[in-house]
Amino acid sequence: MDENSINIPEIFGSLVFNDEVMKKTLPEDIYVSLHKTIAEGKELDTSVANHVAAALKDWAISKGATHYSHWFQPLTGITAEKHDSFIYALDNGGAIMDFSGKELIKGEPDASSFPSGGLRATFEARGYTSWDPTSYAFIKDNCLCIPTVFRSYSGEILDMKTPLLRSMELINKETLRILKFFGLSDVKHVVPTVGPEQEYFLVDKRQAKKRRDLILTGRTLFGAKPPKGQELDDHYFGALRPRVEAFMQELDLELWKLGVYAKTEHNEAAPAQHELAPIFVAANIAADHNQLTMEKMKVIAEKHGLLCLLHEKPFEGVNGSGKHNNWSLRTDTGINLLKPGKNPAANKLFLLILTAFISAVDKHQDLLRITVASASNDHRLGGNEAPPAIMSMFIGTDLEQILSAIASGESTDNLTKREKMNLDVSALPEFSRDTADRNRTSPMAFTGNKFEFRMPGASFSIAEVNVVLNTIVSAELASCAERLESSPDPDTEIDRIISGNYLNHKRIIFNGNNYSAEWEKEAQSRGLLNLKTTVDALPYLTTPGNISLFSSSKIYTKAELLSRQEILYDKYAKEIIIEARTMLEMSKRLIIPGVLKFSAALTSALNNRKNIGFPCEGSAEYEILSRIDPLVSSMLRFADDLSAHVENINNIEGTVQKADYCAHTIIPAMSSLRNAADSLEELVGQDYWPIPTYADLLYGV
Ligand code: ADP
Ligand code: MG
Repeated sequence: MDENSINIPEIFGSLVFNDEVMKKTLPEDIYVSLHKTIAEGKELDTSVANHVAAALKDWAISKGATHYSHWFQPLTGITAEKHDSFIYALDNGGAIMDFSGKELIKGEPDASSFPSGGLRATFEARGYTSWDPTSYAFIKDNCLCIPTVFRSYSGEILDMKTPLLRSMELINKETLRILKFFGLSDVKHVVPTVGPEQEYFLVDKRQAKKRRDLILTGRTLFGAKPPKGQELDDHYFGALRPRVEAFMQELDLELWKLGVYAKTEHNEAAPAQHELAPIFVAANIAADHNQLTMEKMKVIAEKHGLLCLLHEKPFEGVNGSGKHNNWSLRTDTGINLLKPGKNPAANKLFLLILTAFISAVDKHQDLLRITVASASNDHRLGGNEAPPAIMSMFIGTDLEQILSAIASGESTDNLTKREKMNLDVSALPEFSRDTADRNRTSPMAFTGNKFEFRMPGASFSIAEVNVVLNTIVSAELASCAERLESSPDPDTEIDRIISGNYLNHKRIIFNGNNYSAEWEKEAQSRGLLNLKTTVDALPYLTTPGNISLFSSSKIYTKAELLSRQEILYDKYAKEIIIEARTMLEMSKRLIIPGVLKFSAALTSALNNRKNIGFPCEGSAEYEILSRIDPLVSSMLRFADDLSAHVENINNIEGTVQKADYCAHTIIPAMSSLRNAADSLEELVGQDYWPIPTYADLLYGV
């Protein structure tokens, strides 16, 4: 081996207190007990905690850690941590490094500054973090991070992780009920597996720092179209530029140390856009890992003189960034329940899970839309590249033929063979054609052995999305299980369920182009929801049906759902107000003054002409000035309007009303202001334009 080459298997997970380390450092009975908790979700025996704490501390110190932190995912959508050192004071003035089981199990961060959506008044600020042993502890920046869940003093959940774990238990339970009817009683545990593909932009940090909009809001609030966009499609999978390559190498290395299976890195469709895909893992681990991935992307980008943008739509007119949530179900015996196998038509278990999924998506379009709703993702959904705001599914023609044959009682014999792909080059291996071709425009595509949900935004936590997927599929599986359990002839019942689910919910299946205007019409005639914006979608979160779905499945209480809704409205309005204020500041202090300088230069040129007796009217200076002048006046007027609207928000009572006001008054006012500025950008001399342009940013690395 080359002496400079890195030994990846050795590095992989070197900062993680994983199963192998546990086995090495824990007494055998303790290890067995902890392993059960992790693998099967069995309740943790508290006496185990002291042993684990001691082993964790020694291991962490041996890796250079001095502090520990309860690492959790509050409702901000990002992670939180508060560092405590292992130091323990001795009476003689000395110190030892100590860490008890109690400190491992429970933490008490000051919870008052985390969003609770009215669940917890600030005077009862107490919230607890408690150890989540299902996710491995790891070391980040010399700090031992202990994954925890976060709840209020009175037990309401204040984080993203608890409902995710609950939903995983639920889907495990309901799937096991089904598997019994397929002779799979040996399966003890089923987990939803998730592989989130993460898209992001990298821009030059020095350029980006000159734009307050990028720094404060993560997206450009102004910017005329660059001469070259993505029309040549020359960026997708293109060769990496050296700085980007160095960034990706370091990112991979740091993620591998943390046990994240970073796998595929490539350029995306838009200039300066890239993607990282990890190998799938259990949903809760995937949620943790995705948070770490986003965090590392930001930190490592800075080291390479780059700024990593995770915003869903950093540049208007250029593809935005999503996070494709690939989801499937896997048994502890290694079966992927969404794998069609060689003969999908005869694979009744697969067809049952598939149609349960179809039914779940059709019945709960609203919830899926809500899990991807945010001010930032609104710019992406329904744009010309991302999936539209209408929920639909793609399953491919092969599977649809099979389902429709079963539903109409026809034979599926001719539909069972999977064709081989023949590339007509004898040196190339033959491979089976996927059961489903690609449809890049579908919001929820079956991609051979998993569903790829493409609506989530790049900056989102994937926890909520998977809570919803797990919960709605569980509800379907529960009703299938009830039918099977009470049927005298389960085999026939299985066929009935498959055809019933398909026939009742096939309106959600759409294999065509989701971006087309015809689809919007067609979807409407099929009765599908088209919730264009966050404020259109959010009211659905607390419909009686949804309250009952979540409370009966013990994922969220009604109060918890209401609080989440409140947080989402609040966040939406706050983000838009921050954007509006940033636009105002940039307009009044940068853009307008810059334009005025240019106008002044033109005016003085005109004066010079006049002084030497040259005609002014009809001169280039005159022409340009007369185009700029009305635009800059209207820009000023639009800024004043926006400013008045922003002030007015204080007079509006209620979070919902504030959010509606942002959607219907602030956003249009922002858009008028932007249009005026963008038109000016095309007229004002480069030396006078005070901020880097789209071309500077998109082609600056
Ligand atoms: P594609 O080209 O269809 O996007 P990949 O094989 O690159 O396919 O997979 C994309 C993502 O889907 C990866 O993160 C991968 O780990 C994930 N994935 C693959 N199989 C599964 C599965 N069974 N469950 C969840 N995610 C999966
Ligand atoms: Mg994909």
